[in-house]
Amino acid sequence: MTAIAASAGALGPPQAIAGAVLTVRLDAIQENWRRLAAKAAPAECGAAIKGDAYGLGVGPVAKALWAAGCRTFFVARPMEGGELRGILPREAVIYVLDGLFPGQAEYYASEDLRPALIAHDEAREWAAFGRVYGRKLPCALHVDTGINRLGFSVDALAGLLNDSRTLEGLNLTLLMSHLACSDEPDHPLNLRQKQAFDAVRARLPGIRASFANSSGIFLGSGYTHDLVRPGIALYGGNPVPGKPNPMLAVAVLEATVLQTRDLAAGETVGYGATWRAGRPSRIAVIGAGYKDGVPRSLSSAVSNGAAQAFVAGRRCPVVGRVSMDMMALDITDLPRGSVVRGTKAELIGPNIAIDEAAHWAGTISYELLTRLGQRYARLYSGLESTISGHRAQ
Ligand SMILES: *Cc1c(COP(=O)(O)O)cnc(C)c1O
Repeated sequence: MTAIAASAGALGPPQAIAGAVLTVRLDAIQENWRRLAAKAAPAECGAAIKGDAYGLGVGPVAKALWAAGCRTFFVARPMEGGELRGILPREAVIYVLDGLFPGQAEYYASEDLRPALIAHDEAREWAAFGRVYGRKLPCALHVDTGINRLGFSVDALAGLLNDSRTLEGLNLTLLMSHLACSDEPDHPLNLRQKQAFDAVRARLPGIRASFANSSGIFLGSGYTHDLVRPGIALYGGNPVPGKPNPMLAVAVLEATVLQTRDLAAGETVGYGATWRAGRPSRIAVIGAGYKDGVPRSLSSAVSNGAAQAFVAGRRCPVVGRVSMDMMALDITDLPRGSVVRGTKAELIGPNIAIDEAAHWAGTISYELLTRLGQRYARLYSGLESTISGHRAQ
């Protein structure tokens, strides 16, 4: 637990001079993992932790997940795997989803990373390296069942299954595939992919299988197999769009009010004068902009005035264009004096869901999180419950 204690707390510039604060609730990540694990049981629950844990910071997030009981992790790049290996205990299982990079088998082996092999030549390279290395090295086989992104096609897999020399050189620890439309439960591709995956499984009996991402866990027990790989739901994204979010908010982004100003009716706000006050108005300018990962597409003219921030206990509309370092809120309807220089405004968090903010900006929660900039004071909270939650187990 000392490793967690050392990593938690603040990263980046101190709050007082950063102007905006990103708080990552590690206890919420742990609770989300427990909820997903309970939902997927008896399958094991792993974690997709690629992309710096979806932008939230792989070090603290990985340690929190490990403390909660997570033992299997998925990254995209071998480089991410090497970084994660330096963070987690040796027993952690780390799969690299981008497969085996050419000529890099030795790196994977030295960091104890398991490539999710996507093609026959990768399988051959991994098996050949294992022969030189002196033992069959663990790996996953990634089969493409319809997303047409990465993986063996069903035909290509048949080719591998006929290549007994290569097969014998592999320690196959996982058979996996990835869903294209799991966030649309009624999409016909879900069942077609599942049937294709189950047919492949039948040809490789005795190898553990992994199919579901976050939303896949909610498609039913037929989709959870032996190991699930949630990502976005751990970080607070809603795995069941259109229904109440069963996950806790994890990322809380608060920017500081730099100045308030009074406008006469008819005056405009920001570049391009895209928003015009229809009445005498009061505006709060806050210190967060597209440099901080607030999408410029959140601007009032683009989001049709739908975008909001939470300030002084109320939702207020975003007005005018989001600029590099700042943006404006219409606080006319708040009591005078309730918003002053230094007041915090929540852009995402318990009151403004990441899915909602992403929708206003014309994107998805994944992109919103992974684009959060490095200019925030980053706080990692929930350490107390991290420790007591661990002890209670
Ligand atoms: C990113 C990823 C996941 C996690 O997906 P979420 O939708 O974030 O739960 C799982 N599997 C693969 C192959 C991925 O690339």
